[in-house]
Amino acid sequence: MKFALVSFGNEENYGLLFVGTELHKHGEIRFFDAEMTDPVNDIAKYKPDYVCFSPMTIFYSKAKRIESLLKQKFDFISIYGGHHATHCGESLGDITVVGSVHNMDFGQLGIQMTGPTRPENLKSPARAEYFRDIPRFRNRYRKFILSVTGCFWSCTYCASSSQVTRKLYGRTTSHLQHRDIDDIISEAKFIKDCTEEIEWVDDDVFIGDHEWLKVFYQRWIDEIGLPMYVSTTSVNALKASPDLLGLMRKAVNVVGLGVQAIHPESLKLLGRGWDSEAKIKEAYDYLTAFGFKINLQCIIGLPVPDPVGDALDTIEGMKRIGAGSIASCYPLQIYPNTTLEQYINNNAYTLNKECTGDTNSGLPAIDFGPLINNRIRNICKLATMVVKYNISNQWLESLMDIDLGVSSKPMSLVRYYECIKDRLPDKADKIFNDIMEGMNFRY
Ligand code: SF4
Repeated sequence: MKFALVSFGNEENYGLLFVGTELHKHGEIRFFDAEMTDPVNDIAKYKPDYVCFSPMTIFYSKAKRIESLLKQKFDFISIYGGHHATHCGESLGDITVVGSVHNMDFGQLGIQMTGPTRPENLKSPARAEYFRDIPRFRNRYRKFILSVTGCFWSCTYCASSSQVTRKLYGRTTSHLQHRDIDDIISEAKFIKDCTEEIEWVDDDVFIGDHEWLKVFYQRWIDEIGLPMYVSTTSVNALKASPDLLGLMRKAVNVVGLGVQAIHPESLKLLGRGWDSEAKIKEAYDYLTAFGFKINLQCIIGLPVPDPVGDALDTIEGMKRIGAGSIASCYPLQIYPNTTLEQYINNNAYTLNKECTGDTNSGLPAIDFGPLINNRIRNICKLATMVVKYNISNQWLESLMDIDLGVSSKPMSLVRYYECIKDRLPDKADKIFNDIMEGMNFRY
């Protein structure tokens, strides 16, 4: 059997790499780059038995377009899997895998409910084949590693806690365990010499066993030594012991800390009523005392009576928490089957037709009308500068009605550059120049 695996976007399709390893047990695999090339003719020439798509929501329509062009050229079975397919829970192609690829049946068309991915199934991603077929990914400065599948939290906007996922996984503990440390270390050894930074894509680095983390970090420091970027929440950061944080600091440069919103009602709307500005500030001070740099993250464009006022207050709160830090401000996106999707439907909000699901654009998913949509977009674009350089909200308000026009791209480029500079100060210029040559920059 021959499998074509279609890769979307600028970053490694990390989940697709584990799919590749699984499919390789059943035949030959080849990856195709749908970001920098139009892969239709190359896939048709390869003539696979199966064409596999694991698109994020933003790339789903592109995947369907490729599939339909291929169907005009030859017979094959399309397989859809990954986050979007799982969270939609409906038929997307000839076979739709809702859950893990590891239990799927290649002979059965339709929806296959396979259950959550277990950590022991994630032995090793098929990076050798991925780099062979799409060499630009070998040179990408940042690579991903995941150690825990699933997430402990239930944010209302997040596909990980959608209705379908909840029905599928329930509150099991099996998918909140770590992978085998040997597997992760050998994965890291494979990419060590062509990588400058690891993005640790666990949703919250402190989920799971803290003793595991201590053993893991010691091995990482001894055997790998690459700087890491991790993410966490205030509540779990505050539970981490000084011993763990002291050790972790030798491996981790920057911690992404989800603020998301400042108003308690907005946090509640986002399913994060357990958080508060006071806790986030405490976690920020605790982490920075160990020398971590922090990337503060927030979401604006919420379905509240005054979305612009809410956004401005969130930015002001980010400055109270950690002015001087890098900040990332995203426009709210609405994913299928989430609690928030239900909320906006129940409350007669309409979706913004201009929004493609790409957070880099700054465009909110909810249509608040041109004036507010533009303000939300401008606040997203300006937030990094405002928080990092502690600029007053008066300036932000004075700029929020401008028409960005051609400035949108350079502003996003500066933001991207500053994030890299914060994480990898000595290498930022080279990395940034290399990136500009090898990716479709989104803005
Ligand atoms: S913490 Fe992150 S992954 Fe987990 S539910 Fe919230 S947004 Fe989703």
